[in-house]
Amino acid sequence: MIKVAIESKLQSVGTSIFSVMSALATAKGAINLSQGFPDFPMDPKLLALVNEAMRSGQNQYAPAPGLLGLREQIASLARETYDAEVDPETEVTVTSGGTEALFCAIAATVREGDEVIVFEPCYDSYVPVIELFGGVPIYVALEFPDYKINWEGVKKRVNSRTKMIILNTPHNPTGTTMSAEDFQELAKIVQGNRILILSDEVYEHIIFDDQEHQSILRHPQLAKRSFVVSSFGKTFHATGWKIGYCIAPEHLSKEFRKIHQFVTFSTSTPFQAAIAAYMQDRSHIKELRHFYQQKRDYFLQLMAKSRFEPLPSSGTYFQLMRYNAISDKPDRAFAEWLTTEKGVAAIPVSVFYHSGEDNKVLRFCFAKENATLEKAAEILIRL
Ligand code: PMP
Ligand code: GLN
Repeated sequence: MIKVAIESKLQSVGTSIFSVMSALATAKGAINLSQGFPDFPMDPKLLALVNEAMRSGQNQYAPAPGLLGLREQIASLARETYDAEVDPETEVTVTSGGTEALFCAIAATVREGDEVIVFEPCYDSYVPVIELFGGVPIYVALEFPDYKINWEGVKKRVNSRTKMIILNTPHNPTGTTMSAEDFQELAKIVQGNRILILSDEVYEHIIFDDQEHQSILRHPQLAKRSFVVSSFGKTFHATGWKIGYCIAPEHLSKEFRKIHQFVTFSTSTPFQAAIAAYMQDRSHIKELRHFYQQKRDYFLQLMAKSRFEPLPSSGTYFQLMRYNAISDKPDRAFAEWLTTEKGVAAIPVSVFYHSGEDNKVLRFCFAKENATLEKAAEILIRL
């Protein structure tokens, strides 16, 4: 048999840390606080709505941009939450998860040699897509240990090749959130040039301590040049459903949709129908921040007796912990040891830096039953 070799288009890409750590947790029977997903059931009402949609025959292709009923719900939610005028016909596209939306936004815009500014630690799905389309990632490190954006540093990296800036707030993996001042700084930087913004806001409804989420959609001038990405996986405890969306002005959505129609064409119909019906009641979305704030606080309370040092988490369902009082192992080795030897899996944060910068920090997911958090903390406080 002749093996037809190909040259990899993504030479430096291996298997995602989320798959690696979850597989290790399963193999070792460890408590999995690594990959971000809830271990509690989702609302039976939403499950019943999917069943109903399937039984009533909503099983064929949805329109490529998404069911209009769902796009209308998305647009009205944006109006209520961010006072944003979004046209459901031309500015909302439903995608197969936030991941597909991120892919389509980058694919529609980035060309050979274009520079894209990303902040590190950086969620793992941006850079491979930038590189696939010949773009050049320009890394700006968030300032450890607050993980704030150094806007002077950003300004220095902007030039005539800068095509896009990718934001992520609330931020994975750090759990930090951007402020209104951050957006003022961003506005100054992009004013008068043609830089696009891709704003990954999949955790928009998971924000703590009475803060308001600073969506791009609150800023009409910025929204005019932005793709805003969200995901129902996070909002409705259904990460396996892979339903997300992108809001962008008509001229950007038009190009986005050209890519989307050849990546998936359209997203699963019964799930869209169910979510559209479920969203008529907004209470689930409004409650989410309180629900997760309690989880965060409970996890922190359980961990107070440990030698792990928590860093502030103001959004997402992740909590960073420094472990330098416990071990001087590199974070990846420490995470593997913790999973294999102690039975708790977490994500090493160095994997989100191109240079592998290691500040001895692990990311723990607290989207878990209280009993799961208790079992994990019982082990962690003994270290
Ligand atoms: N962006 C960030 C920051 C995420 O954490 C995730 C969730 N894993 C995604 C995008 C992708 O969302 P989805 O699971 O809907 O594809
Ligand atoms: N976003 C999730 C996390 O940060 C994982 C997504 C994935 O596994 N691709 O854990």
